[in-house]
Amino acid sequence: MAGRRGRRLLAVPHLTGRLQGFGTTIFAEMSALAVETGAINLGQGFPDTDGPAAVADAAIAAIRSGRNQYPPGTGCPELRDAICHHQRRFYGLEYDPADEVLVTAGATEGIAAAILALTGPGDEVVCFEPYYDSYAACIAMAGAQRRVVTLRPPGYGFDPAELRAAITPRTKLLLLNSPHNPTGKVFSPEELSTVAELCVEHDLLAVTDEVYEHLVFEGVHLPLATFPGMRDRTVTISSAGKTFSYTGWKIGWVCATPELVTAVKTAKQFLTYVSGAPFQPAIAVGLGLPDEFYAGIAADLAAKRDRLVDGLTRAGFEVFRPAATYFTTVDIRPLGESDGLDFCRSLPARCGVVAVPDVVFYDHQSEGRHLVRFACCKRPEVLDEAVRRLQALRS
Ligand code: PMP
Ligand code: GLN
Repeated sequence: MAGRRGRRLLAVPHLTGRLQGFGTTIFAEMSALAVETGAINLGQGFPDTDGPAAVADAAIAAIRSGRNQYPPGTGCPELRDAICHHQRRFYGLEYDPADEVLVTAGATEGIAAAILALTGPGDEVVCFEPYYDSYAACIAMAGAQRRVVTLRPPGYGFDPAELRAAITPRTKLLLLNSPHNPTGKVFSPEELSTVAELCVEHDLLAVTDEVYEHLVFEGVHLPLATFPGMRDRTVTISSAGKTFSYTGWKIGWVCATPELVTAVKTAKQFLTYVSGAPFQPAIAVGLGLPDEFYAGIAADLAAKRDRLVDGLTRAGFEVFRPAATYFTTVDIRPLGESDGLDFCRSLPARCGVVAVPDVVFYDHQSEGRHLVRFACCKRPEVLDEAVRRLQALRS
């Protein structure tokens, strides 16, 4: 069969037809390649330094004080309170910790539970491409269909007419990721208004993935739920992994009306039930850190973004400067390359660096074939060494 990565794949024995073609995630494949070759891993997005000590200390204290059994199904009370406080503090959004918040195993489980709970066979989900890989898999697991609208470089804007055309009488929900992986785009207020107006006009639910909400360098992050008519039709999802540099803890959350939270919880309780007991109170501590912490993580990452963008430009790529997130996407064609997947598979041997081909995030493969993503969430000396190695591509 034709695989999602444009290769002919053999069917995986035993695997249900809905999931044939999904293969191994690109993040696992490329991180394994980095380990195997000893290359610098600018592929999978995870930092190479720990987050705030106060947050780690709180997790250790929680383990030591015996908070190691199942937490409540919706999450521990102080984390639910802290999430509501965070939504009010940064966005003026009010949620009731009693029934409008659900703690999940990372944003990944929140997204899966939302899609599984809210969509099924016969329903369509509209999302933008490139899209985070789990969206397509979750829509497939739900038995729904995806309809994609392409974001195109250099600005990664979209054509409102294309978005309107993607909505049909079967459309149940719209899935929006801003700040956006892999492009580093922050959807503008005008773009978000367009999305919100279409959701209201067509009575759609929205699911938002806001895991990079605090990693914004230019522009501002505005949750879709703050737009007119959206608060009660939006399932807002975020997580602690990126904000606190503890991606392995997998603490995420969902905020929505009691009815939507109940629906999402119905699916979530049969996925993990609960997870991360001692990490939950620790993230509550993190969410309460002062404004300087939040300004500091964005400023620190912006400097890393600049270092990487400059180095990639010197290496000869066309670079699309990101306004947010860990990631920078480049066009490899100025280097005489055209296939990002081949390029990424050979890059460790050629240069000792790992990157991720954007094509895996597209339905329309020709839109992303020549695009490659590099992560900047590494120590400056690691970025400098990676950039030094990449200069070899010019010769
Ligand atoms: N959404 C996007 C856009 C991501 O990049 C990631 C990776 N952090 C996730 C969701 C998953 O988040 P988590 O690790 O909290 O499950
Ligand atoms: N979100 C991370 C990225 O985009 C990877 C997480 C994962 O491995 N699933 O690189």
